[in-house]
Amino acid sequence: MVYELAIDVGALVAIDTHVHIEIDDDGTHSLPPTLADAASKYFKSGHERPSLDAIADLYREHKMAAVVFTVEAGTALKHVGVSSEFIAAGAARNNDVLIPFGSVDPLTGAAAVTRARMLVADHGVRGFKFHPTVQNFDPSSQEFWPLWAALEELSFPAIFHTGQTGIGSGLPGGYGMRLRLSNPMLLDDVAAAFPALQIVLAHPSVPWQEEGLAVATHKANVWMDLSGWSPKYFAPALVRQANSILQDKVMFGSDYPLLTPDRWLKDFVELDIKDEVRPKILKDNAVRLLGLSSASAGVVL
Ligand SMILES: [Zn+2]
Repeated sequence: MVYELAIDVGALVAIDTHVHIEIDDDGTHSLPPTLADAASKYFKSGHERPSLDAIADLYREHKMAAVVFTVEAGTALKHVGVSSEFIAAGAARNNDVLIPFGSVDPLTGAAAVTRARMLVADHGVRGFKFHPTVQNFDPSSQEFWPLWAALEELSFPAIFHTGQTGIGSGLPGGYGMRLRLSNPMLLDDVAAAFPALQIVLAHPSVPWQEEGLAVATHKANVWMDLSGWSPKYFAPALVRQANSILQDKVMFGSDYPLLTPDRWLKDFVELDIKDEVRPKILKDNAVRLLGLSSASAGVVL
């Protein structure tokens, strides 16, 4: 089934640009058991892994849409997780609220390029998600440039995890994962070489937040989602730039199920953000990035 967008943008109060589907309907988990257990411990989450349909219901009740994805890292993790096809099919039956992003494993080379094209053509995905630390690749390496060229040509955005990660955290050697692969400066190279590719830095890039803000300021094609942290913990520089120079490129994202959209939004109310900037962060910037209709500009939560 090919996903087709059926989102009534005007009826939405917000768009959550960062939601993980961690389990499929057969019980397959996105991560191998050792990593999943360690991540749960790190996040002290009640280990809640809602189904795709339950996630759709949650967002529908809240009058929000959500960008949903998995991370395919078969080569690095030696584990076949949740598939992009599963996500696209689930989003297709919940296309009033879910927007599917695909995932391909960059270490599979030319097959990743073919798969990216196939996920768009046959399944209707509207963007792509990457996690350089988990997928074990350096996005600035020219080895992966055919993939970025293909995504640029497809005209869909690519979200890259940036900054530290809970995955592998607390394990010997961090399970072999390298944090530096998620330094946003590596994406500055990609943004420079592919100026029509819209790149989203996922999370405020801690401990490279200044770097992330610099790249997003310098490159017109670089955006940032504010997921993974409660707004309560946003650094002053982030709040200042979200209010000014980056107000058209920073977006609400929760990182659900690790952080609930309710918690994020509740803490966002308390954040010192200008009234006119709030709807941009909550919805309007995502509407532009995702190519949704902009009929709803100006709705305030
Ligand atoms: Zn995430």
